Amino acid sequence: MRKRFAALLGFLLFASLDTIAASAGLETSVERAQAMLIREDLGEGIYLFRAPSDLDYWTATNSVVIINDDDVLVFDSCTRAVTARAVIAEIRKLTAKPVRTLINSHWHQDHWSGNSEYAKAFPGIRIVSTAQTRDFMAHMRPEFFVQEMYDFGLTRMEEGLANAIATGNLADGSPLTALARAGMEHGISLAKQFVAEIEANPRVLPNMVFQDESTLWSGRREMRLMNFTGDATASTVLYLPGEKVVVTGDVLVSPEDGSGPPPWSTNSHSVSSWLDGLRRLDSMDVRAIVPGQGPVMHDKAYLRRTIELFDAIRRQVLAALDRGHVKFADVRASVNVDDIAQTFAGKDKIDKDFNLVVDLLVKRIMQESLDQSASLE
Ligand SMILES: [Zn+2]
Repeated sequence: MRKRFAALLGFLLFASLDTIAASAGLETSVERAQAMLIREDLGEGIYLFRAPSDLDYWTATNSVVIINDDDVLVFDSCTRAVTARAVIAEIRKLTAKPVRTLINSHWHQDHWSGNSEYAKAFPGIRIVSTAQTRDFMAHMRPEFFVQEMYDFGLTRMEEGLANAIATGNLADGSPLTALARAGMEHGISLAKQFVAEIEANPRVLPNMVFQDESTLWSGRREMRLMNFTGDATASTVLYLPGEKVVVTGDVLVSPEDGSGPPPWSTNSHSVSSWLDGLRRLDSMDVRAIVPGQGPVMHDKAYLRRTIELFDAIRRQVLAALDRGHVKFADVRASVNVDDIAQTFAGKDKIDKDFNLVVDLLVKRIMQESLDQSASLE
């Protein structure tokens, strides 16, 4: 959930003035949003709708729709209201049955911000999460998500533009052209539009919670909800034992196009419990894995590479600590997982973004291993 701004700014710097002028802002038409959704049919009434980051902005998002004998269950409600409305419109094209249950996998805003659209469209809907997830959400006013926007990129974008205007140069020393300035201003404008949407979004909390595990039945379908650590604490994984389908939320994520190593890390300290969760997924009998971002996986290859990557980083961090290293820079310098990273498809994507993911994992493993978060620089 972290890297969207860098990608956006990079694109705009290479866009043309015409492209920028033609791109009015974030998409607001439900019909055009529907056309942007990518649908994958998993069979037996199970569909994945993938909203690209060009539409859902903060990240690409996955929403799973399960049509049962009498009703519909949806897993995760996307980021933007227009995206949630587009998925709801697609559901109505598939079936006249009502959505009675919505699962929120975890508190990150790209998984539950569409709750209000579902509550409006399906009065009485049951919205389910873990108890801890609901507690996290209850403390998150819109100001929290606005602050995330500034912290994860908007402040940097605004300062970058102000500096460039003041000096006439971009951060790399090259001159500030009209095109570069238009691109930067457009990027900030999109971010501000998203901030306005966050502020206007009435957040609807889950109205049913569970602790460790809960099983729902609808007609013949058994749907197991399980509490995992993923990129957020107390995340919900949905498992359909009859269909051998697991929906992971952000316990497992791939790049938006499915190519390359994991695109982001955790903001919590629990890397080893995340690794436990990945291993628990590996132990399950599945024919399809739906990650929190990216296409459906039909084998465990990506999952197992991710386990290998996290495990190697963890082992190398602990070895560095055991040798007496205490500073982040020293521990990080002793971690090398390039060979594992190269085994992911799309090895040309092993770049500074991947190194940032490793940086974060190293810091989190240091924190959980040393039971503290200070003095890591
Ligand atoms: Zn997440």
